[in-house]
Amino acid sequence: MTSFIQNTDFFAGNNPETIASEYGTPVYVYNEKILRDRMAKVAKVITKYPYTANYSVKANTNIHILKLALEEGLNCDAMSIGEITLLMKAGFPVERIFFVPNNVAPYELAFALKNGVMTSLDSLSQLELFGEVCNQMKIEPEKRKCAVRINPGVGAGHHEKVVTGGKKTKFGIAEYSIPQIFEIAEKYQITIAGINQHIGSLFMDPQPYLDAVTNLLRIAHQFKNLEFIDFGGGYGIPYHKLDEEKEFPMEDFKSRLEPILDEFVASYGKAPLFKSEPGRFCVAEGSVILGRVHATKENSGIQFAGSDIGMNVLVRPSMYDSHHDIEVFRDGELVSRDEADLTEQTVTGNICESGDILAKNRLLPKIEEGDLLCVLDTGAYGWSMCSTYNSRPRPAEVMICANGKVKQIRRKETIEDLLSMF
Ligand SMILES: *Cc1c(COP(=O)(O)O)cnc(C)c1O
Repeated sequence: MTSFIQNTDFFAGNNPETIASEYGTPVYVYNEKILRDRMAKVAKVITKYPYTANYSVKANTNIHILKLALEEGLNCDAMSIGEITLLMKAGFPVERIFFVPNNVAPYELAFALKNGVMTSLDSLSQLELFGEVCNQMKIEPEKRKCAVRINPGVGAGHHEKVVTGGKKTKFGIAEYSIPQIFEIAEKYQITIAGINQHIGSLFMDPQPYLDAVTNLLRIAHQFKNLEFIDFGGGYGIPYHKLDEEKEFPMEDFKSRLEPILDEFVASYGKAPLFKSEPGRFCVAEGSVILGRVHATKENSGIQFAGSDIGMNVLVRPSMYDSHHDIEVFRDGELVSRDEADLTEQTVTGNICESGDILAKNRLLPKIEEGDLLCVLDTGAYGWSMCSTYNSRPRPAEVMICANGKVKQIRRKETIEDLLSMF
């Protein structure tokens, strides 16, 4: 059996126990080399035609990680004014930011227009609203440019809650409504510069995505002179890596994508800028959470290990039934899964909810009080979905830099922070 931590030398020679005692637990620990590696990979999904990868920042908006994305040549997708503001603060020029919101208020569209950020509209009514806001702001016709999000009619993903592309999901404009897109665009003198889609999150088989690309390119023929076509994100990562699950087959995916693009470029007469929107793939594997076990007990035959990694720190297991591999450290040493007797245990947090479960009936080395848990693949939808539920301040984030040094990239929230809003 493998250890991801050992195979990747995740802590680069630093002892996790030292990190835990210096910054407290729970703490998010990032590895700069892994983050950069994954970002560099998505930057090269298409090499034959003009292409940009837009890192979908909702996966992780730590400003230091946004700066890595900037350095790795990625553009970014933002979902809110908050995300746009963080990106601008991280140094992204507005041309490298794409606003992909849904159900937003006029002031949010006005914010994007005022700052020159390209926006994608997710419904006919939002497109109409965009036109109204342009009128109110007296935007010149040449500057009335936007994209529209198409609902591809097909979806994929690891959980119903993250499949975004099905006919009945809330996202995008149905294909049969495309004629009305043109009517609204003409009414407000808007140029539809791009189309985008997103079928869902976390697929390991490229085929549904390739089918969705083919489908969007078929739809693209209805739009003249598109500047860009954006296929969306969702590339998966192996959450069961301790059981030898393989990485997303990026090379295979790329070689199957290219002929689809060749065919489109030949029939469309030009190559627009192609884009994709990976979030998880860029950041998930570049982070772990270290947390402390404070209690163990047995209840009706179930062996529980109680830690400080509650659902407020990592919500994915309780929200999506997601699996996160766990490695166990004792006195600063990895407890080897090969040598230990693995027993079925349920790992929980410290939140007053029976659903506060990190791992259910999981085969793990027998966990003892004082052990340090290392939860893998927490860089995406980890800290960004943290909450202060039970009035617990949100954890610190530290980075293992490429030179092996440990740097704090977000301080721990304090009780004073919680009180400061009253
Ligand atoms: C969340 C999201 C993404 C990124 O999804 P991942 O599964 O993290 O790659 C891309 N595009 C849109 C529109 C999204 O909402």
